[in-house]
Amino acid sequence: MRRTPRRIEFFQGTLDSTSEIADARIFDTTLRDGEQTPRTSFSYEDKREIAALLDEMGTHVIEAGFPVNSDAEFEAVRDITAASSTTVCGLARVVEQDIEAALDAGVDMVHVFVSTSDVQLADSMHATREEAQQRAVESVERVKEAGVECMFSPMDATRTDEGFLLDIVGATTEAGADWINIPDTTGVATPTRMAKLVAKVVDAAEGARVDVHTHDDFGLAGANALAGFEAGASQAQVSVNGIGERAGNAAYEEVVMALRSLYDVETGIDTTKITELSRMIEEKSDVPVPGNKPVVGANAFSHESGIHAAGVIENSDTFEPGVMTPEMVGAKRELVLGKHTGQHSVRERLKEVGFEPTDEEVREVTRRVKDFGAEKQRVTMEELKKFAREVGVDQVEEVRA
Ligand code: MN
Repeated sequence: MRRTPRRIEFFQGTLDSTSEIADARIFDTTLRDGEQTPRTSFSYEDKREIAALLDEMGTHVIEAGFPVNSDAEFEAVRDITAASSTTVCGLARVVEQDIEAALDAGVDMVHVFVSTSDVQLADSMHATREEAQQRAVESVERVKEAGVECMFSPMDATRTDEGFLLDIVGATTEAGADWINIPDTTGVATPTRMAKLVAKVVDAAEGARVDVHTHDDFGLAGANALAGFEAGASQAQVSVNGIGERAGNAAYEEVVMALRSLYDVETGIDTTKITELSRMIEEKSDVPVPGNKPVVGANAFSHESGIHAAGVIENSDTFEPGVMTPEMVGAKRELVLGKHTGQHSVRERLKEVGFEPTDEEVREVTRRVKDFGAEKQRVTMEELKKFAREVGVDQVEEVRA
């Protein structure tokens, strides 16, 4: 039975007070940073299929790729732009050829980036701060002259001298950038530091909106993205299942559900397709989703231990967040049978398949389930039915489950 989730009071009811976040948009980079996952490559068809689902779900921006990279990439970005109703973005270095390729692909937004940290300027870009700033300004001007929305990223912002960072943000905003993105390229930010930096950038970028791009090297990508929103950013860059360079990016599913369930912000995204989206990316990226992955992992709404399962059978809010249900993300709740199973789960599962056990029979079947599970064996429904027959439980009807 489907019921409207009851509003759970937590933190003394702060959910019912004003949210810390007013406005939140989602910029998906699964097809760009996500594809830069070591050993991952999406085909043209993969990219079209992923973009179509992201678009259908109401994702605000889809970064479709890096058009200058190859003819195939150019074609994918061009065709995704033509087929999507949402904003499609193409990436470009501060290089004429890159910007022209993105413009030729017809994207709605060009995302221009340049290294700004001293380490990357010296040992990756081989340019001075002045050169980087000048090329950034010229690139933004070129995109705006073409009449296209422009996002500027000072790459490695969180390891960039703050004075220089605010200078280049001011200069590119003045050149017409619509968006300033703050990338935590190597995942070194903490939520408090991210919030302080974003607040300063919001002040320095008057006239432009601010976006954040976070990485998960320390498991803080989602927290840092939310800290960015709390400090005034309007948008966060995420990837499905958190795939991306090294440990990956902030996960689409985590950020979207935290915004909706914890901050009570309406993003307009159809969250009921999140599980389908996650499975699609898992298959096409070849990056397996761990069972304990938030929101989309196989265990995200599974319960085995006796106390938890019994509570959940009575009211799922007892041992789930309450503000996030499997229905909200298109998943199913599962009572897993194993070493930690209690009698409530066993009785529930037996009834589901048409058995009518006495209390004594439930106790005996439960003992067999626990012994079997303790040997690290998976207790399937077939196994459960076998135990029930061995114990001699009455079966009124054979229900195909
Ligand atoms: Mn990145």
